[in-house]
Amino acid sequence: MNVKGRDAAYWLGEDGPFAQAMEAFVPREGQIKMASAVEAALSSRGRLIVEAETGTGKTLAYLVPILSSGVRAIISTGTKTLQDQLFEKDIPLACQMMAPAPDVRLLKGRANYLCRYRLSQTVAEGLLTSREDVATLQSIVEWSQYTISGDLAHAAPIREDSALWPQITSTRENCLGTSCPNYDDCFVVRARREAEKADILVVNHHLLIADLMLKDQGFSELLPPVDAIVFDEAHQLPTVARRFLGWRFSTKQFSLLLDDVRRELMTAAPDMLQAWGNREVVLADVFEHIRNFPVDGRVSWENRPREAWDGLCQLLFDVASKMAQLTEACEARSEGLARCHQRSLSLLADLQRLMVEPAQDWARWLEKHSRSIVVTDAPLNVAEPLQQRLKAQADAAWIFTSATLSVGGDLTPFAHDIGLEGQATTLTVPSPFDFQRQALLYVPRYVPEPNANEALSVIFEHVRVLVERSRGRAFLLLTSHRALSEARLYLADLEGVSVFFQGDAPKMQLLEQFRTNAPSLLVATGAFWEGVDVPGEDLQLVMIDRLPFPSPDDPMTAARTRWCRRRGLDAFEAVSLYDAVLALKQGAGRLVRRVTDRGVLVIFDPRLVSRPYGEYFVRSLPPFKRTRSMSEIEAFFEALHQHETDRN
Ligand code: SF4
Repeated sequence: MNVKGRDAAYWLGEDGPFAQAMEAFVPREGQIKMASAVEAALSSRGRLIVEAETGTGKTLAYLVPILSSGVRAIISTGTKTLQDQLFEKDIPLACQMMAPAPDVRLLKGRANYLCRYRLSQTVAEGLLTSREDVATLQSIVEWSQYTISGDLAHAAPIREDSALWPQITSTRENCLGTSCPNYDDCFVVRARREAEKADILVVNHHLLIADLMLKDQGFSELLPPVDAIVFDEAHQLPTVARRFLGWRFSTKQFSLLLDDVRRELMTAAPDMLQAWGNREVVLADVFEHIRNFPVDGRVSWENRPREAWDGLCQLLFDVASKMAQLTEACEARSEGLARCHQRSLSLLADLQRLMVEPAQDWARWLEKHSRSIVVTDAPLNVAEPLQQRLKAQADAAWIFTSATLSVGGDLTPFAHDIGLEGQATTLTVPSPFDFQRQALLYVPRYVPEPNANEALSVIFEHVRVLVERSRGRAFLLLTSHRALSEARLYLADLEGVSVFFQGDAPKMQLLEQFRTNAPSLLVATGAFWEGVDVPGEDLQLVMIDRLPFPSPDDPMTAARTRWCRRRGLDAFEAVSLYDAVLALKQGAGRLVRRVTDRGVLVIFDPRLVSRPYGEYFVRSLPPFKRTRSMSEIEAFFEALHQHETDRN
């Protein structure tokens, strides 16, 4: 079938191929409207911002016009989960219906691919101490013989915190590029070459922006020029851009450098190993400083503990200087040693950079992790740098879409954030769901304001009752790790309900346990507020402890607030309220995923009804029927359970 010449209304309409071939496909007016807007943007190479609420079917709304017009496109997602879902499910399905057979490729960041060179070094070195790592390494060696993609997501699972990761993957700094003995069968090179030829390339925002920032050494330009770029989950773009348009310094780079120098000396200059000194002693000293570093989590640069920081910097300076001297003496002996020399010099330059205060429109903060300290410099305003970098793809259509982009239906703040205010066509597509009938928004009475001492214990009492009425099938989404810890004390013993807490297992595993162990309650924070899809009867109650305002102590929030004030802008509205509304929309969006779903959204924060800004939140949420009456909630669940019993 020739797919060209047919518009989206044909493909997605009532008598169209999707409706005829798929029993579950429901033609949706909003989906066709969005698809038509995408068609117009593709033909004019315009800029389009679309908020497509849950249930619109936004993925097909951009895939169908792309496939039917035959344009070359990059689709960028916020998460790897959506990236995989697009590549493995959505695009094959659309292609099957439309039969255009384009060349579709998936490209991830280099840290996702096995590096053959580093793998062989790790095996030759034989220094792994943990039994688990040795066993995993063995299975990866076997897997490396037959894998085609080298994508480690398909290898034996490696723990997120395993010491193996940096040993078998490459970074831009340590990759040998064309000088590598494994260059011809390198997985990263292969993935990027295939990406260059793709008709449709699926990437993520991190990779896309990192590519716009750096024309990767050894691989020249990574992403090909295309006719269209779609940013799905576009609400994450400003945050990702702030991170990747900025600069990061991590103490981990020093331990990696020490490791790599030793490996390269073993291969190319064993006579100089003695001069390398005792790595364990040096590293132990660095880790001791990090362990005792008097910071818990994140602090702004102004509040760093200066004495401890200066002591650590001095130590790192000594390490980098010693490595620079050593590698200078033998850099001619191998490309690997030459790279190590360059890395030592660049670490010395990084330490120099840290002695200079950040520019006024940048935020700098310091973050302590279990085995490293990271300093980040991030631009507060990404609009201009983002637009500048996107100029490389200026001839393409740019389409930004997400279920949560607007505040109270207004897309201007998002357009402003990405530098497209007044330059993009905007569209909001309402959900096709009947929210008034499908769901209730319940704000319980007599819950104290969130900062009151007793607030959490009162909330947890409500949770116990609500979960009993709903018979589990519930999420409790919290706004802090402190609340998560307290929830463990109050809620672990719910009678007849399996309770799962974030952190007890990886995200996907936890969701699977939640689904298969009903009646169940999942208690979580951050990572579960978005990108979680539990349709149907498995989830009928979503509870949120408080309005998710960012902490004013968060260095980025504090810096953005100061930045707004300097410009005479309302910082509360532009930073705190905006971020909180988008986060609440994401959290609330977990409840109703299908046209047949029914449930209750509970927001325990009384400010939703007592403060003037509460109206912003309410207007941004789906138009659920509102109530403050527990008996209405009880009646709702009773009717729901009766309906399920009758049906079964
Ligand atoms: S080219 Fe780079 S990524 Fe590829 S095998 Fe060599 S070092 Fe590893």
